[in-house]
Amino acid sequence: MRLERTEAIVLHTYPARERDKMVVFLTPDHGKVKGFAYGARGIKSRFGAALEPLAKIKVGYAAKEGDETVRIESAELVRSLFPAQQNLVTSVAATYIAETVDTFAPADDPAELIYRLLDRTTGALLDGALPAAVVAYAELWMLRLGGIFPSTRNCAECGSGIGRPLRFDARIPGFVCDTCATRDAFVINNEVADELDAIGRTSVEAWAAKPMSRETLFEVRSLAGTIRRHFLGHELKSFEVLASVIAR
Ligand SMILES: [Zn+2]
Repeated sequence: MRLERTEAIVLHTYPARERDKMVVFLTPDHGKVKGFAYGARGIKSRFGAALEPLAKIKVGYAAKEGDETVRIESAELVRSLFPAQQNLVTSVAATYIAETVDTFAPADDPAELIYRLLDRTTGALLDGALPAAVVAYAELWMLRLGGIFPSTRNCAECGSGIGRPLRFDARIPGFVCDTCATRDAFVINNEVADELDAIGRTSVEAWAAKPMSRETLFEVRSLAGTIRRHFLGHELKSFEVLASVIAR
């Protein structure tokens, strides 16, 4: 039996049995962890409001060698996302970011950078940053951290250096040089290409506060979506809901 005490962010919770909760949370050192919180659905639960989706917590848990789930012993609330979840768009954006992270984060492996991405993006939503921009930032960074986002410097086919305008071939998917570009490759607007670069060296707060046209933001998200779907073979469950609330 190993006892762990760490900072974490709750990704999902499910009701389990009559009074318990199954909780999936992300930790910096052990990636995704799944655990049971006994009695968490009771009226006088000792966990209080700590085990709610996207709450940042200090969690203590016991892990048994070879077991897939841990036993959550304690959880203290560090930061609740509840205030941001009162707004429909922000709430759906937060759920979508949680699903993105849940899909790509490893279990049982350090995930410090992914943890930081989730921490900063949900924090930005709480601070009132533009939800669509925060979502785009999270989508693109998740693909970068997963090693899935293709290079914007070298051709995906032949490896030679590429300049502007960028050409994207959705079938690879990747950016290609003039020589390798077939009729299927399309030209990426320079403004969009600039944002793809900027996102790599800008904090989420600064990026979300940048003046940016709806079209540019849409193009950035659309590229990320093409690359993500190609990798996963399907779309994320909350994608359509997010699209419908953002479009309103
Ligand atoms: Zn090439």
